[in-house]
Amino acid sequence: MKVLLVFAALSVAVLAKDTFKGHQVLRISAKDELQLSILQDMEALEHLQLDIWMGASDVSIPVDIRVPFFSLTAVKVHLDNHEIEYSVMIEDLQIALDEEAEEMDSATRAVEPRNTDTFDYSRYHTIDEIYKFQDMLVSENPSLVSKIVIGRSYEGRPINVLKFSTGGTNRPAIWIDTGIHSREWVTQASGTWFAKNIVNTYGQDQALTAILNKMDIFLEIVTNPDGFAYTHSTNRMWRKTRKPNPGSSCVGVDPNRNWDAGFGGAGASGNPCSETYRGPSANSESEVKSIVDFVKSHGNIKAFVSIHSYSQMLLYPYGYTRNPARDQTELHDLAKKAITDLASLYGTHYRYGSIINTIYQASGGTIDWTYNQGIKYSYTFELRDTGRYGFILPASQILPTAKETWLALMAIMDHTSKNTY
Ligand SMILES: [Zn+2]
Repeated sequence: MKVLLVFAALSVAVLAKDTFKGHQVLRISAKDELQLSILQDMEALEHLQLDIWMGASDVSIPVDIRVPFFSLTAVKVHLDNHEIEYSVMIEDLQIALDEEAEEMDSATRAVEPRNTDTFDYSRYHTIDEIYKFQDMLVSENPSLVSKIVIGRSYEGRPINVLKFSTGGTNRPAIWIDTGIHSREWVTQASGTWFAKNIVNTYGQDQALTAILNKMDIFLEIVTNPDGFAYTHSTNRMWRKTRKPNPGSSCVGVDPNRNWDAGFGGAGASGNPCSETYRGPSANSESEVKSIVDFVKSHGNIKAFVSIHSYSQMLLYPYGYTRNPARDQTELHDLAKKAITDLASLYGTHYRYGSIINTIYQASGGTIDWTYNQGIKYSYTFELRDTGRYGFILPASQILPTAKETWLALMAIMDHTSKNTY
């Protein structure tokens, strides 16, 4: 009887959450173009069900892949046969996820914060907690912060944007979004800290005060609400939206391949089961369309920053074409200034450049679209780390990540406010 009860409890747990027991994250290093193309071919083998954390792009950059337990032997044999070197970055992903969950559930978190001062910025939070945080921040700072609902997610969740404004009408604005890829948890956590930091330092910090006296800041912390809720409820590794794809058992679209900029070109997939599935048409995802409509109707956004993790990079357009952006020189110089400021805090090293030259070709991406809309200062961050933990960055790194990133954001916002166009 006891045995049966244990079994029943186990199967409930299994039903509730996808398990990654025995999954490993491999770091693979191609030493020449031939090995690189073998890796790219392997990434495309559907039956292996690989989850590409960092795709094959250049021989100088290692490839990180989550390999399910059932295809581990096949993958390792394949790599050995081609004498491709690899190391195991994460021995058993589920053990790491269990540690993360335990930390989230620990006793100190059980006390619900009554205001944004007692909110714990050094931990990961659920969407409900972040949404409550937003409402508290607005009610505590009604003359500085308001909440705008720019749309609804596929599953009907409100898409919230915080607006920081000291007055005026339709002032030139800066847009920042985090979490468009839902599993990149350090981004939503950093976005939450950014929001609090703005209200804490407005009126104290000279540079931020000058910016906010001239411009508005829009901050979307949970840019993929359904995906984010799903990373907490069911599958911690979920990246895409949660809209079903007709004729396929695979769910979701990559919201960073769904924008109307080189849509459908190389660097995105037409396969609904792919993690980089572009969707049936540009703007098919309401999470993307809501921002598109907002940006167009606002008409005065001067900087647009979309924040991802991981790999420590600061990128500017383009991703879908090798043609350099018209403002490449200025964007490059400003990126250099931003990552230099970022590094001044803890020495964290960032690479920078255009998307296509720094990571790989990617079509339908956010900032290619915003740049083509005339928003000159369009940037994408890839926050910490460089792959030791990847998407499951320990919560102890949230605050250092948020604080150093803020310095780079300030560099971009300061430059924008002093170079209005
Ligand atoms: Zn991402």
